[in-house]
Amino acid sequence: MDFFALTIFPGMFEAFAGYGIVRRAVESGKIKITPINVRDYAKGRHKVTDDRPYGGGSGMIMKPEPLAAAIRSIKAERPDARTVLLSPQGGRFDQDAARRYAQEGCLIFVCGRYEGLDERICETYIDDEISIGDYVLTGGELAAMVVIDAVIRHLPGALGTQDAAEFDSFSDGRLEHAQYTRPSVFEGKEVPEVLLSGDHQAVGQWRLESALLRTLLKRPDLVEKNGLTDREKLIVKKWCRYLESLL
Ligand code: SAM
Repeated sequence: MDFFALTIFPGMFEAFAGYGIVRRAVESGKIKITPINVRDYAKGRHKVTDDRPYGGGSGMIMKPEPLAAAIRSIKAERPDARTVLLSPQGGRFDQDAARRYAQEGCLIFVCGRYEGLDERICETYIDDEISIGDYVLTGGELAAMVVIDAVIRHLPGALGTQDAAEFDSFSDGRLEHAQYTRPSVFEGKEVPEVLLSGDHQAVGQWRLESALLRTLLKRPDLVEKNGLTDREKLIVKKWCRYLESLL
């Protein structure tokens, strides 16, 4: 899968592509991340990429011509590419969106700077406008990296094991169950006994229960949105009986 990032700070992507799962995905050829310096598409001696806003006001706006030229040049090679603007005004990026984007062959991320882009770029060249949360960053680069990172986890084989992303938080509308590793006793706290039992069915049931309880406590909105399965209803009833016994 190909990722392009239009940015005035292409160097920001170097460290991102140089570590961990992202690096492995690049080295194995599963993905290619190409930062494109918008300045290279700016005309004139000074290669200016921003200008003052019409109507006055503070801050600068990214000029439309260099962005349009950069997008057109990528699209000439990759007409299948989807162009995504990172913006605090966009729809919220989530795990479903990450899974959907992983089906694409090529994504072009437009990373805004200053006060954002000339609106005519958004109208003509942008397929999706996405936000990574209700706060304002100084630029779209970190947001693009967040999105690329989350998308890569859904590419077959990128995590090393076939099904790891399938069990990640949010993939089934639940947070992931609690995790433990050695030592089995740490500062007097023991790992739940069932996880040492080797009984796969019991471990599966424990994980289901752990995931449901964590979701109910930390993100009840996910349970409200997705409802309960029959197996989960049994778990909730068991806990209701327990809580009633305390009363
Ligand atoms: N003036 C803009 C506004 O109020 O909507 C904010 C511009 S922001 C300082 C500069 C750039 O950072 C944006 O064009 C966008 O690319 C990126 N950015 C900021 N916050 C973001 C967010 N929550 N999600 C995705 N991108 C964001």
